[in-house]
Amino acid sequence: MRVANFNPGPGALPVPVLEEAARDMLNWRGTGMSVMENSHRAKAVIAMVEEAEADLRSLMGLGQEWAVIFCQGGASLQFTMIALNFAGPAGRCDYINTGLWSTKAYKEAKICGANPRLAATSEPDDFTHIPEAFDFDSEAQYVHLTANNTVRGTQWKQYPKTPAPLMADMSSEFLSRPLEADRFGLIYAGAQKNMGPAGVTVTAVKRELADRARPDVPSMLSYPVLIKNESMYNTPPVWSIYISGLTFKWLKNTIGGLEAMAEINRIKAETLYRLIDQSGGFYRGTARPDSRSHMNVTFLLPDQELNDRFKKEAQAAGLEGLGGHRSVGGLRASLYNAVTQDDVNKLVEFMREFQRTRG
Ligand SMILES: *Cc1c(COP(=O)(O)O)cnc(C)c1O
Repeated sequence: MRVANFNPGPGALPVPVLEEAARDMLNWRGTGMSVMENSHRAKAVIAMVEEAEADLRSLMGLGQEWAVIFCQGGASLQFTMIALNFAGPAGRCDYINTGLWSTKAYKEAKICGANPRLAATSEPDDFTHIPEAFDFDSEAQYVHLTANNTVRGTQWKQYPKTPAPLMADMSSEFLSRPLEADRFGLIYAGAQKNMGPAGVTVTAVKRELADRARPDVPSMLSYPVLIKNESMYNTPPVWSIYISGLTFKWLKNTIGGLEAMAEINRIKAETLYRLIDQSGGFYRGTARPDSRSHMNVTFLLPDQELNDRFKKEAQAAGLEGLGGHRSVGGLRASLYNAVTQDDVNKLVEFMREFQRTRG
């Protein structure tokens, strides 16, 4: 029996995607072998990667002014690549700190020898909300932010206007809602939250910006090198791209695009937040209501013993992955694209019953 999967990442994948991959495991597209046993230079594999890119572009509405590449090293390596390509030694860059992943991105820029500065931070308020006031450096090469804060359960509703190109870590909300692409210079997302297996990271970067990247960057970390080689500078993670490609098709053909996906996600999140808000304080949301994420719903019970008991009993009831991040504890339900309304209804029913018997 499949569980209702609320894992924060790697997270749930759509069942039709898994079924198709299973069907084609031994003989993919008539090649007599699985997709991952093919050469990455084989025609069928190149066509598959191109198709994945085309589907992604059409979903996100990205024109030819954007380069789209499949990278390795996870979202975390993008922290490094952005700093190396666009700031470099002593290069000035702005970071908005909204939690664990933004902090890591900022620290990485320092390690790379850049000169990052905080344009805003919600750390004094324990990262419970998205900042409203910004102090941008007009000399900065870029501004970096985290679109959805996976650990704290907060999410940007409206992005700030920035003097320098905006670069966003979209890992935990990628393809969950339409994107105002014009607002950004670069966006990236690790696959394993909302798209496919770990091992591939999608980066979309405006070509004019990529053209201005520093030339003194090692090949595997250089955006221009990866763009020029169309994601095949070295052996790409073919399996991860393949599954992501199936997810893109599922989003396009079964869900009907990102508007439709956003509406499904909004209703899922509202179902859960409503239950939390109407629980008379038994369940307490940890994010400020105006900053609440539609992807990661973070909450607490009245005490630690109840938190632990909740997690254990939920798991026994087939509700997986509800523990909060190890840095903050508490509980978290991740409602990525592949999590269904039915899964959320099961969770809400469980929460009601848990409160009735333990509250
Ligand atoms: C999970 C996550 C990361 C880290 O991703 P890796 O692919 O493991 O490096 C970075 N940013 C955000 C917002 C995340 O949710």
